[in-house]
Amino acid sequence: MKNFLKNIIIAFLVFLALASFFAMWQTPIYRPEEISLSEVAKLINQEEVKKIQVEGNDLKIELKNDKPKKAKKEAESSLSESLKNYNIQPEKLAKVEIKIEEKSGLAYWLGNILPFLIPFVFIVIFIYLMSRSVQRQNLRAMMFGQSSARKYEAKGKKRITFRDVAGIREAKEELWEVVEFLKNPKKFIQLGAQIPKGVLLVGPPGTGKTLLAKAVANEADVPFFSISGSEFVEMFVGVGASRVRDLFNKAKRSAPCIVFIDEIDAVGRQRGAGLGGSHDEREQTLNQILTEMDGFEPNTGVIIISATNRPDVLDPALLRPGRFDRRIVLYLPDVKEREEIIKIHSRGKPFSVDLSVKRLALRTPGFSGADLKNLMNEAAILAARRNKKKISMQDCLDSIEKVILGPERKSSVMSEEEKKIAAYHEAGHAVCAHFLPHTDPVQKVSIVSRGFAAGYTLKLPERERHFRAKAEFLDELVVLLAGYTTEEKIFGEVTTGATSDLREATKLARKLVTEYGMSEKLGPMTFGQKEELIFLGREIAEQRDYSEEIAKKIDEEVQYFIGEARKKAEEIIGKNKEKLEKVARALLSDEVLEKEDFEKIVGKKIT
Ligand code: ADP
Ligand code: MG
Ligand code: ZN
Repeated sequence: MKNFLKNIIIAFLVFLALASFFAMWQTPIYRPEEISLSEVAKLINQEEVKKIQVEGNDLKIELKNDKPKKAKKEAESSLSESLKNYNIQPEKLAKVEIKIEEKSGLAYWLGNILPFLIPFVFIVIFIYLMSRSVQRQNLRAMMFGQSSARKYEAKGKKRITFRDVAGIREAKEELWEVVEFLKNPKKFIQLGAQIPKGVLLVGPPGTGKTLLAKAVANEADVPFFSISGSEFVEMFVGVGASRVRDLFNKAKRSAPCIVFIDEIDAVGRQRGAGLGGSHDEREQTLNQILTEMDGFEPNTGVIIISATNRPDVLDPALLRPGRFDRRIVLYLPDVKEREEIIKIHSRGKPFSVDLSVKRLALRTPGFSGADLKNLMNEAAILAARRNKKKISMQDCLDSIEKVILGPERKSSVMSEEEKKIAAYHEAGHAVCAHFLPHTDPVQKVSIVSRGFAAGYTLKLPERERHFRAKAEFLDELVVLLAGYTTEEKIFGEVTTGATSDLREATKLARKLVTEYGMSEKLGPMTFGQKEELIFLGREIAEQRDYSEEIAKKIDEEVQYFIGEARKKAEEIIGKNKEKLEKVARALLSDEVLEKEDFEKIVGKKIT
């Protein structure tokens, strides 16, 4: 649009310049007085006229004793004929020098044509510019059959390399091999090895799949075509397959290169499983990908990397050898890896001396690389909002909660009564968590509402855990029900504040029975097959693979677990009523209790 305006302005200036030039050339510097033809005749009879210059119908008259004059003759007749009608004396006329000039040549033509041409040219330019800017907007629409794969090139400082990827060591090693293949294919071909065609990166969102793929391209220093699975089927129906073809053609032409298909589950879901019309389109696209991957010979130097967080829904045909035969699994980072990732994302940010990356890493279990990046960014924003020059540990800690629970809702003001309920509710959670043996220590209790939660009790594990035991789940159930139980015990009734706790608890109890095999009555079996409906991409239908009888037993077991947990919560709260009161009062006055303040009231946690 900016360009377009510039063009218009230039066109306008050119127009102005031409017009003024034209005007100057048309009007001489002196302006002779115009006289009538009869006066010309009179002047000739008086022998005043020296010379008459005829240009078309214009007469330029030079006089002997006066300034030049101009006049017009009749259009059709010649000068002498015109003058005859004015009683001119022929011998006097003979004395006048008459010069007839054909108006011709470039100047003449320009003079006649320019006035018509300029607006015309102007309009043509205008239309051209308009159409061009419209075209640019529609460019993607015009090229709908072509893939919109972008060649990714980042130069200079922004180049992403393996140094920007922390942790995920195994994945990096696997991909380093790919880089070697691309850099030095001969080494492998000589030994009869086949270069892999496809690498599938699998892992939860934010674990660095896209990041890794970019790093590979930069390390190998080859062209990198990046496209997202959903882009194949964007905008127009029926173009996915041709886009795939186009993409692979482009890739083959610029081999060695990498084709990166992000979020491949958008097109690579199991065929024949979809509902509605659009799955046909997807299937064709997928078929085309499969065909293309079979179609090009190994060792052409085209390597396809794709990423997904839903490997379970991918079509088996994609995963068979010869296609995505290498699968690299990325996990959420552990403490050490989190530490490294935090270090990477604190590059170039000023921190005050109290920052302990180790403590931050310990405090962020379950965070993905993307979460950690977000955390460090939030910390910087928070420090800026607090008008600080450096980011402190406190800024980082406060940001953790923001990332987990959403921003504080300072605007929603609770009434005194609501505040009291929230305080006892959270105190219940916290006290139960404190006195149970298999729970994580309480880090913070708060009744400042955040996101959807009216208050929260933050518990964090002391170390990384990969497996969890039944005892931990049972204690967790108790903690979940503690809010509800406390409200009931203190106020004699419950509020809707406990709703999400109850939902969580029920879900957990059901999982214990149907997924983890932790119910003694039902034994080590799983019940129910999760079926997901493709068009929503969520588990919404559960296929029952058990009888009515078992269903009843499951419900009974879930009820039993919940009942037991409630009893236990009541017991703990009954025993520690004084401490609960103290915690609740502290919360009412301070709103937030940090670990140290909390432990001053309840003592150190015994584990
Ligand atoms: P996804 O796996 O969902 O594709 P991304 O690769 O897009 O995740 O990661 C998002 C961002 O998170 C990256 O741009 C990067 O800044 C950060 N990140 C994720 N994992 C790591 C990691 N292992 N090391 C450093 N940064 C990471
Ligand atoms: Mg991604
Ligand atoms: Zn609660």
